Amino acid sequence: MGRRRRRREPADPGGGIGCHQHAKYPRSPIQTRPMDRKDIRNLRRWHRAAALRAREAGFDIVYIYATHMYMLAQFLSPQHNQRSDEYGGSVENRVRLVRELIEETKDAIGDTCAIAVRMSADDGTGTPEQPVSEDRREMFEILAELPDLWDVNIHNYEHEMGVSRFVKEASLENTMNYVKSITSKPVVTVGRFTSPDTMVSQVRRGIVDFIGAARPSIADPFLPLKIKEGRGDEIRECIGCNICYTGDSLSVPIRCTQNPTMGEEWRRGWHPERIQPKSSDATVLVVGAGPAGLEATRALGQRGYQVMLAEATTELGGRVTRECRLPGLSEWGRVRDYRVHQIQTMPNVDIYLDNDLDADDALSLGADHIVIATGSTWRADGYGRYHKTPCLNLGPAEQIFTPDDIFMGRVPQGKVLVFDDDHYYMASVLTEALVAQGAEVCFVTPENLVSAWGVMTDEHYQNQQRLLQLGVQIITAHGLDEFDGSNARLSCVYTQQTRLLETDAVVLVTSRAPRDSLYKEIAGKLESASPGAGPIPTLDKIGDCDAPAIIAAAVYAGHRYARELGADGVRSDVGRQDKLFVPD
Ligand code: ADP
Ligand code: SF4
Repeated sequence: MGRRRRRREPADPGGGIGCHQHAKYPRSPIQTRPMDRKDIRNLRRWHRAAALRAREAGFDIVYIYATHMYMLAQFLSPQHNQRSDEYGGSVENRVRLVRELIEETKDAIGDTCAIAVRMSADDGTGTPEQPVSEDRREMFEILAELPDLWDVNIHNYEHEMGVSRFVKEASLENTMNYVKSITSKPVVTVGRFTSPDTMVSQVRRGIVDFIGAARPSIADPFLPLKIKEGRGDEIRECIGCNICYTGDSLSVPIRCTQNPTMGEEWRRGWHPERIQPKSSDATVLVVGAGPAGLEATRALGQRGYQVMLAEATTELGGRVTRECRLPGLSEWGRVRDYRVHQIQTMPNVDIYLDNDLDADDALSLGADHIVIATGSTWRADGYGRYHKTPCLNLGPAEQIFTPDDIFMGRVPQGKVLVFDDDHYYMASVLTEALVAQGAEVCFVTPENLVSAWGVMTDEHYQNQQRLLQLGVQIITAHGLDEFDGSNARLSCVYTQQTRLLETDAVVLVTSRAPRDSLYKEIAGKLESASPGAGPIPTLDKIGDCDAPAIIAAAVYAGHRYARELGADGVRSDVGRQDKLFVPD
């Protein structure tokens, strides 16, 4: 997959200065040159040859890709294209290269392959009220009947690929809805469609002829089949977190929060829907009903094991239930809902809410296997990436807050300093929640950007924009060194120069500690159990209780535990601390 570019770049001077600001791909000191006639002739020749190779390789549909500010989109753009020859200036001229490529590709392979064009419905020069320029509409009119299929997206990639916190389902519609009135050819679009009702509505209302779905089919590759068979309540709906996109950003294998089998179909042989049946009549106790415990329970239940799920609180979902109540994160609740829905249909799974187990409770249940998924707690001592040891000068405890305090309803008032040493969504979402409750927030981070890891999920821009729009004071590249109850001392990460900031409270979003005391207690008892005292259960820990991480990692750990229980051989230690596997 290529790199997509952002919308708000200045007009590009003719030669094509590397002009796209992206935190992941900073402005490049490398310039290009305008293509001359020979370059264009070569490109057309190469494109034709590539189309022929694609047909030979067995493809049925070949694209002319004229969007995402790749080269063809730059030819179309009234801003980027500053040529004075027959490929620049008027709409006819700017559209010429795309038209030639469509015609030549059709000529080469059009007898056996469909030719699709992907082009954005707008060119980024419009307004929210009127997103589509006359210029872009004319381009669609000129090309209308040439391709066999129109694949229409929008210019703003952050919007198109937006996370659910900022962009809601099917939100491309207002920009691309005119295209079908211009062409008789079929039209498809994307837009993180997750609900079959929304999809059907767009088709029925004549917005599109069929639905494009990338993230929804990562979350559930059997989405079309489930819709077709009327199994809508079995769909694992995408939550719009963009963890899948981090694989692209970090050049590592893809992961999905909702679908732990994503990327493991071949490597581990994990089918997204099917799982091997249980290998014995052993019983399993799962402690903790966060994403790790819920997924372990669901997948063990699917295998046919007798499972007891014990949860300390009166709610299922753990951190997902807490976090999905924060501004913009409601769709994250689907991580819980999908699993709870599945578990509730399983007669071999028993759920015990309001059961804060200790080691004796856990052992007294007599399970053959115990898996601890008790999660983690946010630290209140400043320890994290900035402070390598607990910070001792953080002022009166009643003026120090953690995300857990806020979840429990202990909320700071007045002037609040949010110290983000976690660098993902938590600090910025909490900031938004605090501002909504009337606090005057200053956001401090040792990084150069707000929620810097959000660059990996392509949400950093909207994140920083949101805080600025809310009037939050942002101080980057500074750490929090001390707080005396009225002033916080910050220091610059580059110069170590300090400054004082008046504040009533400090929210520490730094790091989390595994909640693993139950695991340790049980492990201690098992170690000291006298031989001959009866069968000894296996003991494991998974998810945040093992190593605090993102929700996707907890779901994955739960799934992996369930897959590997009773399997032959030794488990590898990827993502786990315990290396030895004891077959049941
Ligand atoms: P993860 O992300 O690893 O799934 P969470 O923090 O989301 O972790 O969930 C952990 C769950 O475990 C929480 O719902 C918490 O209430 C529950 N829990 C913690 N300690 C116990 C315990 N001793 N007995 C039962 N449930 C517990
Ligand atoms: Fe959807 Fe998140 Fe899975 Fe991507 S990682 S497909 S956004 S649930």
